Amino acid sequence: MNDVTTSFDRMWGDLEPVGRHAGTGGYRRYAWTRTDHDLREWFAAECAARGLDLVEDRAGNQWGWWGDPDAAPGVVIGSHLDSVPDGGAFDGPLGVVSALATVDALREAGMAPDVPLGVVNFVDEEGARFGIACAGSRIITGALDADRARSLTDADGVTMAEAWRSAGRDPETLGRDDETVRRIGRFVELHVEQGKALAIAPDGGDDLTDPARAVAVGTDIWPHGRWRIDIPGEANHAGTTRIEDRRDAMLGLAEVVQAARSYAVGLGCVATVGKVDVVPGGVNAIPSHVTAWLDARGQSEHVVHAVVDAVSSEAARLGATTTEESWTPTTAFDTRLVDRLHGILPDAPLLGTGAGHDAGILATHGVPSAMLFVRNPTGVSHSPSESASTEDCHHGVTALTAVVTELCTGKDPESMSVAR
Ligand SMILES: [Zn+2]
Repeated sequence: MNDVTTSFDRMWGDLEPVGRHAGTGGYRRYAWTRTDHDLREWFAAECAARGLDLVEDRAGNQWGWWGDPDAAPGVVIGSHLDSVPDGGAFDGPLGVVSALATVDALREAGMAPDVPLGVVNFVDEEGARFGIACAGSRIITGALDADRARSLTDADGVTMAEAWRSAGRDPETLGRDDETVRRIGRFVELHVEQGKALAIAPDGGDDLTDPARAVAVGTDIWPHGRWRIDIPGEANHAGTTRIEDRRDAMLGLAEVVQAARSYAVGLGCVATVGKVDVVPGGVNAIPSHVTAWLDARGQSEHVVHAVVDAVSSEAARLGATTTEESWTPTTAFDTRLVDRLHGILPDAPLLGTGAGHDAGILATHGVPSAMLFVRNPTGVSHSPSESASTEDCHHGVTALTAVVTELCTGKDPESMSVAR
């Protein structure tokens, strides 16, 4: 154990109980809640302890800067601290804790960055509360309009503007933030892997110990989107209505879910109905309306659209309507930065991902961005079983430190020439 691994383990221990549900063991860390406030306070304190200057942008993302962020385009590392409902411990926090530990590693090695180094905690990455993923990065880049963001509502009908006010913030200040984005010369987001690509050896067997496969370099994010499907029915008594007289919206849901599965299997992508809203929602009432949300992703945009179109046609046959809520095309990370990372970490496999990330939103906006993925033995994420071994987490910090050392010091031929 050195100081850096001790520091990583201490921070990991600090975060472990925050927002963890006693019953499920999963995390419920939603934007602009008390739990989120505690996480933000924790992040601010960690930045202060390292002498990083904390800045909040117009979306509420937190940036801890080492060096004057306006002196030159900086190198930014970090991720997010929020979670999906009953999420795991690693998705997001691993990147934030690793970034802070990387600052410690640079200090321990007696190094100081030649360009500003930022550690970021992006707010509301999962979209668990207001339904739009990567809200923090979408707002500052203008991909999510300020008025639309303010009017988004959570499950209790609370708007984002109201949530901001409850958190002691002025929602009128929310909006695009070019000054903040301009400071990001390059962004490298370390993240737990959300599949088993690193855990499976090239020969097909489990590979949980090869240090060369502890970390991968991300190449791109698959195209992905969310669609709302509204399925009509007719409310009636569950006991007195003859089977043949029913218009049961839940049966329509079953057909939609099956269609999503079979078209996804047939065409080769992934599709999921993970959230439904049933009206009136009584055990003894035939559903009069079901709203289902479809998430679809794959390597090819064409295939994802083909699956959604097919599901939407099936839904239309049932009288249902399909509305696109979000769509993100394939996001390729910055080729030069990916090559650079691969040069620094030559043993690391190259990996695309089916999950969206703030790094993808920034890349789409033209900010040179890339990712590192840390091996996940189960391949599970968005669940309490999400995991990474402590050893692999430490490998992640070592990899990120190597990257930052090269990108932030005179060793990097590009460090002085990045200007946008
Ligand atoms: Zn994440």
